[in-house]
Amino acid sequence: MEGKKETRQFQTEVQQLLKLIINSLYSNQEIFLRELISNASDAIDKLRFQSQTDSGILEDGSDFKIQLIPDKEKKQLIISDNGIGMTYEEVMENIGTIAKSGTATFLKAIEKTNKNDALTPELIGQFGVGFYSAFIVAEKVTILTRAAGAGTGVKWESTGDGSYTIEAFEKKTRGTDIILKLKDAEEDEQDFTDEWTIREIVKRHSDFVNYPIVMDVERNEPIPEKEQVLDKNGKPMGETTRKVVKEETLNSMKAIWLKNKDEITEEEYAEFYKHIGHDWNPPLTKLHLKMEGTTEYNVLLYIPSRAPMDLFSPERKHGLQLYCKRVFIMDNCKELMPDYFSFVKGVVDAPDLNLNVSREILQQDRLVRNIRKNLVSKLFKLFSDMEAAKYDEFYKEFGQVIKTGIHTDFENKDKISELVRYRTTKSEDKLISLKEYVSRMKPDQKEIYYITGDNLSSILNSPHLEALKEKDYEVLLMTDPVDEWVVMSLTEYDGKKLKSAEKGDLDLDQVDEKKKNEFTSLFDHIKARLEKHIKEVKASTRLKGSVACLSGDNYDMSAYMEKILKSTGQSIPETKRVLELNVGHPVIAGIKELFDKDKKDERINDFSDLLYDIAVIGEGGKVSNPSRFSQKIGELMSRSLKS
Ligand code: ADP
Repeated sequence: MEGKKETRQFQTEVQQLLKLIINSLYSNQEIFLRELISNASDAIDKLRFQSQTDSGILEDGSDFKIQLIPDKEKKQLIISDNGIGMTYEEVMENIGTIAKSGTATFLKAIEKTNKNDALTPELIGQFGVGFYSAFIVAEKVTILTRAAGAGTGVKWESTGDGSYTIEAFEKKTRGTDIILKLKDAEEDEQDFTDEWTIREIVKRHSDFVNYPIVMDVERNEPIPEKEQVLDKNGKPMGETTRKVVKEETLNSMKAIWLKNKDEITEEEYAEFYKHIGHDWNPPLTKLHLKMEGTTEYNVLLYIPSRAPMDLFSPERKHGLQLYCKRVFIMDNCKELMPDYFSFVKGVVDAPDLNLNVSREILQQDRLVRNIRKNLVSKLFKLFSDMEAAKYDEFYKEFGQVIKTGIHTDFENKDKISELVRYRTTKSEDKLISLKEYVSRMKPDQKEIYYITGDNLSSILNSPHLEALKEKDYEVLLMTDPVDEWVVMSLTEYDGKKLKSAEKGDLDLDQVDEKKKNEFTSLFDHIKARLEKHIKEVKASTRLKGSVACLSGDNYDMSAYMEKILKSTGQSIPETKRVLELNVGHPVIAGIKELFDKDKKDERINDFSDLLYDIAVIGEGGKVSNPSRFSQKIGELMSRSLKS
């Protein structure tokens, strides 16, 4: 592989993404620099972290910096870092493919809008295109990189038109140079080789980056008198100033999380978020705390305004970075935050932490566990204090993942149950809390009713809700797969049991015993006919208008759960359900009449089959034999038209 120049195609998704970037990100072009500086800073972070266990990796020094090298004549800008660099394989893996799950879905969604002007940088930024943003300003991008400790380097080059070249390359120093051959700037566009333009951009977007961002600048400096040639009157004969080139640091490197709140503007908070969060949108809100007490530490947490595409991907990184006295220890610090808050981004700086701490030790570290506990409780407070409209916005993005905590964090189950929101039969458009639900329960209502299913309109019209509606009881409408796991763990709220509208007996008006007994032998007959599908036939307490429905026992799997598991390819034994019949319905009365007259009447079997099919259809299911079903319905219709 080495020594030979290879030409390779970008992954299809990357090609699509590049097209989007090149054609639609013309406003706010300057953010490319922030993205590349962020990558450079991450690369130095990584090197620093590795050097804690392998000091040999710092072969050519630990004078970490990010260098910007503009060249007006060549119309070129280089962003150079002495971070971890990349090997040949890493370049192929990281640049040219997008591993993030959700890419395809995202691109499809964008394609659907089919209007390029609907594409805002925020929309694309939400996805985090990082390196590819170089193509906003560059007609050609060259990467020269050498992984720390590796013998040879790599050269990668592309004009962003679908392919790139890659070859082995001698590079003296470790780290990465990104060389941008800039596009011709229009009259009103920024010149990214201009010193003051660059200074301004760095100040605006990358001031707090933890490493010096340096640039050689040319200045006129007075020539010391000793070195000047003077005439006989002592006046200088030649130039009194000369041009000198000096390396200047463009950023203040102030750790924003250590500053006092009143020293930080909202813009600075937002910029820092964009840097650590790899997000182009400003955060929804933040939490900046100095924790004092037995252990002291500083925390700056952000809640993103949008959920990432890969919110549910198991490989998704957590958003917390751990520092010890401004020294970066690690990112993706899962130990500090439970999975259901994994979308929270930010920095924790704990001065008492051991600098050489490894991930394994971190899990058992008492200080870390303590911090985690505190952060979680502060977040609960942040969310419960949030103003309603803002909370709605937040819940829309992250509610799904927060709910998973009910199933995974027993200790905080009650607190999480305060955060969940649902639509209900009395609030179809607005999500409400369980607290609100309980506050408006009917005086005689003992339980909290819910129903699960994959779409709102089918569960809203479910026959299971008929009696509850008549009683004017409110029912929570749960349409999220996660909800099935929620109700498994959240069996009670505020002392009231959660009760599925489709399982077990509802504690409503009971069918009178005498009437029930009248139907016993008919129901036994129907049960025998349908034995393959059902385990029981009974008089329903749920139904008012409909003739039949299916229900489960309290501990049976719900129909929706069965559907979810099937859709993930799991083979599950079919749970036999209960066929509930409405004994107040004329159809059941009519069948009973037939049955009382002649138990062997053929039609009773046909009707039994149809009752089952109707119940299946009533909950949005599919009948097992649609052609037989429509044939039977056809027969029935023609018979009733004749009579
Ligand atoms: P992201 O930064 O969101 O992961 P990018 O497209 O910006 O996405 O970068 C992809 C990957 O390429 C990074 O995760 C990193 O592994 C690698 N990379 C990018 N820039 C550098 C750099 N300057 N030094 C080392 N690795 C880099």
